[in-house]
Amino acid sequence: MTDSYLLRDNDTGFDRVLAFSVPARHARGRVVRLGPVLETVLSAHDYPPLIKQLLAEALVLTALMGALLKEKGSQLTIQAQSEGGPVDLLVCDYRDGEVRGYVRHDEAAVAALGDYPTLEALFGKGYLAITFDLAATDERYQGVVPLEGASLAQACENYFAQSEQIPSLIRISVRLNGPRCMAGGMLLQHLPDSEEGKERLHAGEDHPDWEHVSIMAGSITPEELVDPALTMEELVWRLFHEEKEVRVEPLALLQRGCRCTVEHYQSILSRFPEDQRAEMRDDDGTIPVDCAFCSKILRIPV
Ligand SMILES: [Zn+2]
Repeated sequence: MTDSYLLRDNDTGFDRVLAFSVPARHARGRVVRLGPVLETVLSAHDYPPLIKQLLAEALVLTALMGALLKEKGSQLTIQAQSEGGPVDLLVCDYRDGEVRGYVRHDEAAVAALGDYPTLEALFGKGYLAITFDLAATDERYQGVVPLEGASLAQACENYFAQSEQIPSLIRISVRLNGPRCMAGGMLLQHLPDSEEGKERLHAGEDHPDWEHVSIMAGSITPEELVDPALTMEELVWRLFHEEKEVRVEPLALLQRGCRCTVEHYQSILSRFPEDQRAEMRDDDGTIPVDCAFCSKILRIPV
């Protein structure tokens, strides 16, 4: 990585999330750009292009939805589980600005797919579980939607519409062919009940405010989502410049992070009875643990 590339990252905001809202329309959103973080996650395994594309989309979604969490220590996990498809597991999570993810797939079956497979062609009979773990209250919200339709983004839109009754629009763009991996995305939601103490207003796809902002946001192009010449702030301004007020707030930088430390696995393994640990131990006295996110084996002395 060269210095000039680092400078460019800072200018255009790769590996960043921008929060925005259009108060008069009761709309809020997130814009995300992934660059080096995406490259790091994708390079942990030797994925074919189709799986890279899928994982890149999933990571953008993870960052967009994870960035809705406010309290430190809260986590967002998306997990696709399937039967009979070339991809049998996809999992990504977000916690405190750290993202990670991986995909388990059948190499030969993926190679036999065409260029733009549907979710059904990828996952067979599949479901997407979206889980919000809230640190402050220890609460867990989980919604499960079928993996149907054209994209993971559409499945997530369905999750918000069905499980949370929040009209949502999600757009994602992935560029893996250029000199660098880039991905960008935008999430827009209609939240008429966001004002505390006020009765929940009518929410729905047919609300005039939502119709208006979703048409504006829907006009975004795949090129704009990843265009390094356009900052995320400029992107939001371009979409909503006719509104009286648009608020933006840059959130913390995104990082690729994993929790596969020796201490973490020691604390888990120490809860097993000694005879079970003895069975797991190798000749060198350690227990090997495989982290699929990092594609590495840790040797845990326990
Ligand atoms: Zn790891």
